[in-house]
Amino acid sequence: MPIYEYECRVCKEKFEVLRYVNTTDDDNVRCPRCQADKPIKVVSLFSSGSSNKTTRAGCGSTGST
Ligand SMILES: [Zn+2]
Repeated sequence: MPIYEYECRVCKEKFEVLRYVNTTDDDNVRCPRCQADKPIKVVSLFSSGSSNKTTRAGCGSTGST
C-alpha cells in the first residue's frame, strides 16, 4: 500500500496518508494539526538510485545487489 507524505503549507506539519489508490483526491487531504487543506505532496526518496555512492568503476550493465 502506498503511503504518501504531505507537508502542510500553513503550519509546515509533515504527515503521511495511506492511500489504496492513487487518485486525484488530494483536495480531500487535510492537515491533522490545523485542518488546512491542499497540502504539498512530498515525494519520497526511497531507492531513487540517484546517489553518487555507486562508483563508475564496475560494469554498469548489470546492477549489483
Ligand atoms: Zn497544518
